Amino acid sequence: MKLTVLGCSGSVPGPGAPASGYLVEADGFRLVVDFGNGTLAALQTLCDPFDIDAVLFSHLHPDHCADFAALAVFRWYHPAPPYDPRRRRLAVHGPSDTADRLAAAYAPNESERASTDLSEVFEFHSFGEPAVRIGPLVVTAARVAHPCEAYGIRLEHDGRTMAYTGDTGPCAAVTDLAAGTDLLLAEATWTDSADRPADMHLSGRQAGAAATDAGARQLVLTHVAPWTDRAAVLAEARMAFSGPVWLAEPGAGYEI
Ligand SMILES: [Zn+2]
Ligand SMILES: [Zn+2]
Repeated sequence: MKLTVLGCSGSVPGPGAPASGYLVEADGFRLVVDFGNGTLAALQTLCDPFDIDAVLFSHLHPDHCADFAALAVFRWYHPAPPYDPRRRRLAVHGPSDTADRLAAAYAPNESERASTDLSEVFEFHSFGEPAVRIGPLVVTAARVAHPCEAYGIRLEHDGRTMAYTGDTGPCAAVTDLAAGTDLLLAEATWTDSADRPADMHLSGRQAGAAATDAGARQLVLTHVAPWTDRAAVLAEARMAFSGPVWLAEPGAGYEI
């Protein structure tokens, strides 16, 4: 597997930094995990957006799905698509209300939605069974601690594993998903403080503790908010986890 960061700015895009989005490649299959503000621009520097094979959403806050409407426009209105997009509908996996929420984001009113049915170019799937196969990847999704229907995921391919927390406060699901993984991609929105709201986000210390509890081999910190001290988040995580720790950067790649 190869993980490439499209965007990693937490909660909102930052200066020159898209919000959350990741490209996961395995056996030539391309899965985009989250599609936040600015990620379609980043994706186009790596591949033709027609060449992605599936999209997965951890949850549907705007910083994780805002550019999906742009992808819909790209696939619908591109003047010279390499094939008829209606004949190769793109698989989209996510929370139970994904189809309705994304259609509403794309088309502002019911009459437009009636004439522009996204299901003609996208095939929507809700997380259901504990594990699903998406191309060559085995994907396990589990509910995490966030104010909306939000999932962390575990990806397995050819004996290698990675986990992604999505957005979450500390919870057992993250430890379970990340158990023994080769790489944990963990959100670390803010620095550690006793007055942070519960069931919302992780601090650098909490992300490091999750990696330690799970026995993950390496930790990549992401979703650091533009107003957060990145160096402090990294230092916290390194205090709590003895393995290699990196701060995600747009365009960074990790072989797993
Ligand atoms: Zn977020
Ligand atoms: Zn969120």
